[in-house]
Amino acid sequence: MGILDEDIQRVREATDMVALVTEHLQLKRVGRRWTGLCPFHTEKSPSFSVNGEEGLYYCFGCGAKGDAITFVREIEHLDFAGAVERLAGRAGITLRYTTQGEGEGRSRKKTLVDAMEAAVVWYHERLLSSPDAAEARKYLRGRGLDGEIVRQYRIGWAPDDWDLLVRNVGIGFDRLEAVNLAMLNKRNRRQDVFRNRILFPIFDSQGDPVAFGGRVLPGGEGPKYRNSSETPIYAKSKVLYGLNWAKGAIVENDEAIVCEGYTDVIGMARVGLGRAVAPCGTSLTEEHVRLLTRFGKRIVLAFDADAAGDNAAARFYEWEGKYEVDVRVAALPPGQDPGDLAQNDPDALRRSVEESVPFLRFRFDRALAGQDVSSPEGKARAADRVLPVIAEHPDEIVRDQYVMDLADRLHLDPDRLRGRLKVGARREVEVVERVAEPSQASMREMTALRLLAHRRTDVETHLDLSLFADPVARSAYRALAGAGSVHEAIEMIDDPSTVHLLHRLSVEEVGDEPTAVDVALLVKEALGRLRQSVAREGDISLAHEINGLLDRIQPPDVDMTVVDKALELLRAHGRGSPDGVGADDD
Ligand SMILES: [Zn+2]
Repeated sequence: MGILDEDIQRVREATDMVALVTEHLQLKRVGRRWTGLCPFHTEKSPSFSVNGEEGLYYCFGCGAKGDAITFVREIEHLDFAGAVERLAGRAGITLRYTTQGEGEGRSRKKTLVDAMEAAVVWYHERLLSSPDAAEARKYLRGRGLDGEIVRQYRIGWAPDDWDLLVRNVGIGFDRLEAVNLAMLNKRNRRQDVFRNRILFPIFDSQGDPVAFGGRVLPGGEGPKYRNSSETPIYAKSKVLYGLNWAKGAIVENDEAIVCEGYTDVIGMARVGLGRAVAPCGTSLTEEHVRLLTRFGKRIVLAFDADAAGDNAAARFYEWEGKYEVDVRVAALPPGQDPGDLAQNDPDALRRSVEESVPFLRFRFDRALAGQDVSSPEGKARAADRVLPVIAEHPDEIVRDQYVMDLADRLHLDPDRLRGRLKVGARREVEVVERVAEPSQASMREMTALRLLAHRRTDVETHLDLSLFADPVARSAYRALAGAGSVHEAIEMIDDPSTVHLLHRLSVEEVGDEPTAVDVALLVKEALGRLRQSVAREGDISLAHEINGLLDRIQPPDVDMTVVDKALELLRAHGRGSPDGVGADDD
């Protein structure tokens, strides 16, 4: 942790959880808590709850939970320190940093970004003015990437030499090595990583340079593209080329265009489609999609979607459901990429994006294309090709629409086709249940814990560990009893099930009614358990005593002195549960 603990605490205290959450979703007051539609899973009725006093949230639908810092991390995809910094900015708090540990990590990130920036400038100057870059400039101009574009995208040139960058950029070797711009070769000499390549600097969504994509000139050695490998500031699966420039246009259009390469992104922008991005040397990942959905709800794939393979379909449908995005396909003319089209036929490029179709429509049309459907045999073959494609879609209503469409095109009875649709093969996709409900606590135990969380002074003297049998409820009780608040209790605990239960308790409702009945019912439950174990041991006098107490505790009329007497007995003999489960303390 780079930020002083004390400052993190100040940020937590200064943050109004309800106000913070309201920046992202609507909250409605229900009793003591606030509820709204969960931002972390798709839902129609609100199960996302906020406890404003404790600054905690919990979703009854997907199990998402945490405090203000967790919320900002999750919703804005920031790391811990980034989230604290965001909240500190909001609250007008100036943070102080330790110089140890991850604190170094933060300032280290900055040194590495600075090293990248120096390299971006150096390579860019080289492309603009160095004689050895003449061929590269000519190649770029030939593809329509003139000086203005080269400057805008800060494109560079890595000369055909061993160590020009290392010797001239003015950054230490260790830092260059850390960002994968320099390496030690086999003879232990310092060497540049990129050589004889056009370099496209890759920026993160904030605009910090984090990597390079290097393209070889036609006829040059090695693979066509060579990209930075992963470094402390660069994770392929999380960075999209062009997002730093495109995010405004993506928000404006509620749509992102995903291309395959750097020149495609630039080509799109050249024809007025400034909302294009590209993964860098990897296919589109779930992290990428999550990142894009922060800015827009439609994703248009502008690459050869057939080549993405059948497996891609299942992933795209899953993401559609999970992130409520529409994945569409731009039908590019065969064999043409957006970079070429921007140069040769800008209208066709714009049209293909405008006329994008849903992913399933695209697959459907592809499967049907070129099929001879004039003969009965041809129709059967066409149905066999198209139906498996339809079957991949997880939504039955969508599937049926396409089945009817297919029936129409083949002049067949839809029921015939429905019978042949083998949906068994499709992958059911649902919102992932992030955390299984962990606790087996009884209703009475839950009520008591809830009261302890929200109305501590009304119940704490009438509760005891021996009243709880469920192990998770026991550890939750211990934490709550020992802490000043639910939040404090959560911080004391490592066990994930207990943490989960505590978060849930923090947003659950309690009424204002007297608590005596709830306590009495829990005490009776515990007495019942004790009676069972006493009966097994044959302690007759103790069994009589228990029976006497059970008779005298008859809610709704509760005599608290009897309840407290029972509590004393339980403290003396109670072990939580008859089989010894939960007898884990001390
Ligand atoms: Zn949720």
